[in-house]
Amino acid sequence: MAEPGNNEARLAGTSGEADTRSAQLTQRLAVVKHRIEAATAAAGRTDAPRLIVVTKFHPADDVRRLSALGITDVGENRDQEAAAKAAELAGMDLRWHFIGQLQSNKAKSVAKYASSVQSIDRLQLVDALAKAIAREQDATGRNDLDCFIQVSLDDDAGAHRGGAAPEAVGELAERIESAAGLRLSGLMAVAPLGADPEEAFARLAGISEALRGDHPDATGISAGMSQDLEAAVKFGATHLRIGSDILGSRPAVG
Ligand SMILES: *Cc1c(COP(=O)(O)O)cnc(C)c1O
Repeated sequence: MAEPGNNEARLAGTSGEADTRSAQLTQRLAVVKHRIEAATAAAGRTDAPRLIVVTKFHPADDVRRLSALGITDVGENRDQEAAAKAAELAGMDLRWHFIGQLQSNKAKSVAKYASSVQSIDRLQLVDALAKAIAREQDATGRNDLDCFIQVSLDDDAGAHRGGAAPEAVGELAERIESAAGLRLSGLMAVAPLGADPEEAFARLAGISEALRGDHPDATGISAGMSQDLEAAVKFGATHLRIGSDILGSRPAVG
């Protein structure tokens, strides 16, 4: 994608770096929204999937810029980074979605800012989140936590990108439903590397259908990233998690 140059900065009225970045985010966001609209129309869907912009590794200032562009849902995958950004941007109209591997001892921190946790993959984490949310609700009256069970779509355990085995979804769902401050939203998945995303998301749609048989309200399907959002929309994604196609490539992890 073309980098916006000085023209945009001048058009914005100043030559500041911040204005160039806002122009870049505006342009990339428009392209992604257009892709989502086209995919939604192609799938014959009338329900628009919700866009979660994944801001991991990018500064709080970028979240501010996105908020000014109308974005309300942001995704993060590391507690330390997410907690700092959420604290810095407290008071803004933002929902924080936790989408990364989560250690149980971070549940207490995540309960302070997260609107959803999309990476629930084991019973112990459900218990830790239930306890942390109960405490937080006593202290602040916060909302129930939206919970997505992350399901692994890998056949090959060696290529694992996280998530519970499909066979474990039922028990995890029961545990979430039985916890007072947790709301079972649905499923989350990442398409396996090197596999056909349509095949993966078709499989996810089947697992979701089975889950909804027992839990009719658990309609959420969080699937689709920059590379495969069209396939995800085609197979019923209700939430898309888009990072690099909006924010650009992430700096290498140090
Ligand atoms: C980073 C991340 C994304 C966003 O991926 P992009 O390819 O940058 O769009 C989505 N989901 C999860 C779980 C992630 O870790």
